[in-house]
Amino acid sequence: MQKNTKLIHFESPINDPYNANSTPIYQTATFELESASCHTKYDYSRSANPTRDVASVAIANIENAKYARAYSSGMAAINGVLGLLKSGDHLILGDDIYGGTYRIATQRLITHRGIEVSFIDLTNHQLIKNTIKPNTKMILVETPSNPLQKIADLQHIGTLSKTHNLLFVVDNSFMSPWLQQPFNFGANVVIHSATKFLSGHSDVSGGFAITNDEKLDQELGFILNAEGLALAPLDSWLILRGIKTLGLRIERQQQNALALIKYLQQNPLITKIYYPTLDTHPQHEIHKKQASGGGSLICVETRDIATSIKLVEKTKLFNTSVSFGSIHSSISLPSNMSHQSIPKDKQIIPPTLVRLSIGIEDVEDLINDIENSLT
Ligand SMILES: *Cc1c(COP(=O)(O)O)cnc(C)c1O
Repeated sequence: MQKNTKLIHFESPINDPYNANSTPIYQTATFELESASCHTKYDYSRSANPTRDVASVAIANIENAKYARAYSSGMAAINGVLGLLKSGDHLILGDDIYGGTYRIATQRLITHRGIEVSFIDLTNHQLIKNTIKPNTKMILVETPSNPLQKIADLQHIGTLSKTHNLLFVVDNSFMSPWLQQPFNFGANVVIHSATKFLSGHSDVSGGFAITNDEKLDQELGFILNAEGLALAPLDSWLILRGIKTLGLRIERQQQNALALIKYLQQNPLITKIYYPTLDTHPQHEIHKKQASGGGSLICVETRDIATSIKLVEKTKLFNTSVSFGSIHSSISLPSNMSHQSIPKDKQIIPPTLVRLSIGIEDVEDLINDIENSLT
């Protein structure tokens, strides 16, 4: 099956007695047991729920993987995966990792759980190698990173992880499985914030952790149940619905992004454009090796901070909001918004950097909107 077909057709893990074409929402916390001693698959929705199981199978199917766990948010998924680490373990993260991951690393893992964390530039191969120690257990990678769009070489890190017996985890929220499939490069676990492209409509929070390793999946399932991280039934259904149009949405969003870039390249107020497939991107060749497109996030630097603020505040079609991946276009100033939890002296994001998440609107309207807000 090809990609669009796979989004819609997959083997459902549940048997609906009425053959509903849309997965039923099992909006229940408890299930009646047949006897006092019986152990069935479904007894309590924190542990397992049929609608959630269908959402997990759907995502595993598009990542070409065997197992997936569904969480109440991307951060719940990240927390669940970081739960694989023990006190004394060492974790390697990118130096421009998602703000929430930075926060959990600095204010939970280091302070409360005795885990060592190194934040490094993951584009520097020598530095990665030098950072690995005997107690290094995991490397968690985002590529492209958000918002600087630095590209980590998945093949390289996959090989290195295998040599040093590290768990190679990829947070693939930025690209989605449509554009990048980290299992092809040796990832052990792939994480998604389903709040972004998988849902696609900014109407639900969710996350996934996906793997091909049964033992890892069992451990993730144990943590998910023990810590109560699971995705709710209705939210599972919303994400399932979103997944079916993933391909259509992303192709359109990406096509709009490319047209908008052409416009931005000609605007003298825009001093720098970050987009992973542009020839001007220092790692565009690596990105093209591991992903099938540049996606729909564009970051720009402008002449000065006043211009950036004007751009963010004056656009009408771009909602000023954090997050990305929605059918609505949105715009943000990451150093002040999504990455605010990173202290100013640790910020490596230029203060004039504006992030644009491109939706499915007509691109002429988007271009006019940007043009008008800059003049
Ligand atoms: C949004 C995001 C997260 C967190 O996901 P939530 O659903 O907001 O909890 C994690 N990683 C990346 C790369 C993200 O963009």
